[in-house]
Amino acid sequence: MADRLLYEGKAKQVFETDDPSLVLVYFKDDATAFNGEKKGRIDSKGRLNNAMSSLFFELLAKEGVPTHFVRAVDERTMLVKKLSIIPLEVVVRNVVAGSLARRLGWPEGKALAKPVLELYYKDDGLGDPLINRSHVDALGAATPGELDELSGLGLKVNGILSAYLLERKVRLVDFKLEFGRADGRIWLGDEISPDTCRFWDADTGERLDKDRFRRDMGGVEEAYQEMYRRLRG
Ligand code: ADP
Ligand code: UDP
Repeated sequence: MADRLLYEGKAKQVFETDDPSLVLVYFKDDATAFNGEKKGRIDSKGRLNNAMSSLFFELLAKEGVPTHFVRAVDERTMLVKKLSIIPLEVVVRNVVAGSLARRLGWPEGKALAKPVLELYYKDDGLGDPLINRSHVDALGAATPGELDELSGLGLKVNGILSAYLLERKVRLVDFKLEFGRADGRIWLGDEISPDTCRFWDADTGERLDKDRFRRDMGGVEEAYQEMYRRLRG
């Protein structure tokens, strides 16, 4: 299998394969926060995020969500459908945390009556700014119809993952999704892991995600391990 590097990001590498419709995604242990300003490593993160993302994508596919996931090929690598990524980050929130707490001046941990859906423009140079539907239209990033589909899928993923996680004593606080186009339709891409979600212990509120790295809380690798342990049941 050819392994030409197509793209190297902060957390993953994307390699082409002999099949032009498929790519390999390799999960690194590198960790960054605050738009790359803070850099570090989380031992075993690549392996754990590959395993957790694979598990989530399989669960979502079973529930009818179109995902790019084909199969895990080794501990750190998954084979996925090659997408033309839509430059939007779709964030869904159930509980106030992070930038929403800062933006609205609300305390972290306040439950939201309804899920809140936000759109960010995926552009490192601009620091991924928060945008609205009108900006998406002006940018030509997605059509209004596509945006309806992304929003619907974001809320559907939220319902599926929230229920699944609660059974494992984990509260899904918020998460980020990326979507892309292939074969004339939209697929869920990228990853779903403690790098891209906030997971809080349902009883104690203990953080089991990348906030431990962002906020220098310690026990980062242990938190990722604990999440994987709960997901495997
Ligand atoms: P970043 O680009 O933010 O540093 P990563 O290190 O996670 O992020 O890099 C992975 C890149 O691969 C991201 O830009 C993501 O949009 C892209 N990607 C994710 N899934 C696919 C896919 N199925 N096909 C093509 N590109 C993808
Ligand atoms: N998120 C992400 N990538 C980003 C920005 C956010 O995966 O570039 C995730 C983050 O892990 C959290 C959710 O999106 O689960 C909402 O993040 P928020 O806007 O609160 O950002 P932060 O507090 O990190 O500034």
